[in-house]
Amino acid sequence: MQHRDDTIAAIATPVGTGGIGIIKLTGPDALSIASRLFQSSSFSASSPETHRLYYGTIIDPDDRCRLDDVLLSYMKSPSSYTGDDVVEINCHSGLVILRKILDLVIRGGARLAEPGEFTKRAFLNGRIDLTQAEAVIDVIDAKTENYLKLASRHLRGDLAQKTKAFRETLLEISAHIEVSIDFPEDEIDAVDTGSLARKTAGLSDMVKQLLSTFDQGNLYRMGIQAVIVGKPNVGKSSLLNALLGDTRAIVTSIPGTTRDTIQETITIEGVPVRLTDTAGLRSSQNEIEQMGIDMTMSKLADADLVLVVLDGSDELDPRDRTVSRYVKGKKAIAVINKSDLHQHLSADDLNGLFSSHSIVKTSALHGRGIDELKQAIYQTAIHNSHDISSDILLCNARHKSILERTQNSLQAVFDGLCNGLAPELISVDLQAALHALGELSGETTADDVLDMIFSKFCIGK
Ligand code: GDP
Repeated sequence: MQHRDDTIAAIATPVGTGGIGIIKLTGPDALSIASRLFQSSSFSASSPETHRLYYGTIIDPDDRCRLDDVLLSYMKSPSSYTGDDVVEINCHSGLVILRKILDLVIRGGARLAEPGEFTKRAFLNGRIDLTQAEAVIDVIDAKTENYLKLASRHLRGDLAQKTKAFRETLLEISAHIEVSIDFPEDEIDAVDTGSLARKTAGLSDMVKQLLSTFDQGNLYRMGIQAVIVGKPNVGKSSLLNALLGDTRAIVTSIPGTTRDTIQETITIEGVPVRLTDTAGLRSSQNEIEQMGIDMTMSKLADADLVLVVLDGSDELDPRDRTVSRYVKGKKAIAVINKSDLHQHLSADDLNGLFSSHSIVKTSALHGRGIDELKQAIYQTAIHNSHDISSDILLCNARHKSILERTQNSLQAVFDGLCNGLAPELISVDLQAALHALGELSGETTADDVLDMIFSKFCIGK
């Protein structure tokens, strides 16, 4: 990827009416372009102080018309977000004023920035590695506090440091192997091979440990998909509403009313849980209802968790048994609903049907047992041993697949060392592991992958 050293500019805040809007410039001409538009008694264009706010006015250089009172800041290279000179103009946030100032900046010699180009410059200038650049977008997109915590840690560079440490250990191992290729007469003796194999195994364990965090990290990022199933009229829609604390799904006593699937999201312990209320599972002559049932089956296939709702005021019937067969092999919670009515169904009746699942009693109508149900959802599908407040959790599929490749190469290095493979062959796997780690940090990442990552950013970031 070419590092372009022209000056770029963009509106960095959402365009619309608001208190403050920011126009950001970076590049070698950022200061001179901004200075030509900015008038201030305290600002010296030739030697402005870095990291200081200046109060002044933006003037159209063509007609000397005063456009807006602004605050301008200058961050001198290399201590800036991008590593190049950065100027930020804080003006009033209105569509016309923001566009007008941006237009003046472009006419003054800057180019309109592409999406993510500021962060790309920071990456190309070595201010941050690729995992940190990716974390910028994660911080912006974070939907829950927990995910924000996780992304901030990546942004701070925790994963970058870990990757660097992995690389250093690999380089050490590689140096020993290279010596034995260059000077075959000093072939690595048995002791060296043993210690190199141990070092490789230690590194491999660390990579495996990091990989083991992905499921949990991804949970915070993507949330879980929970599907509510059961025969008609057991209270599925009422349960969804009770979990939401709201009335979103239509509740009626006519069986078969939820013909479509309804999806809503709640947050449990910082994890988004997407709840899908489904059409009651029963065989139907009605074509539309049958379509709903087919949709339920496809939702079930993708579900991380199934809430099987049963009517506690009724005895278990063949339709409940059919539903239980549909959820075989899935993480599930049996919800015995209508606990406010006289009960004809007990937890014992579910023996053999849902024995390995947790069982919760609720009254969706009166909002009873809902906290217990949330707790059961947490225990069944969310709880994990990794500590969000201190562990580095992988949450990006790109990182996972790279580390899996690294892990495979490390295993091959280990096997090679144990089986006395020629150093030239061991070196091939070592280089593959190093290359993979380079893809993680961005050093060896292909240009099209970089372009794809930065294209997901917004303009101005
Ligand atoms: P679905 O077909 O499974 O989605 O069931 P609905 O949520 O539409 O409820 C069917 C009927 O059962 C409605 O009349 C609800 O008011 C009633 N219902 C739902 N939950 C409860 C409950 O916990 N207790 C009682 N007594 N009635 C309930």
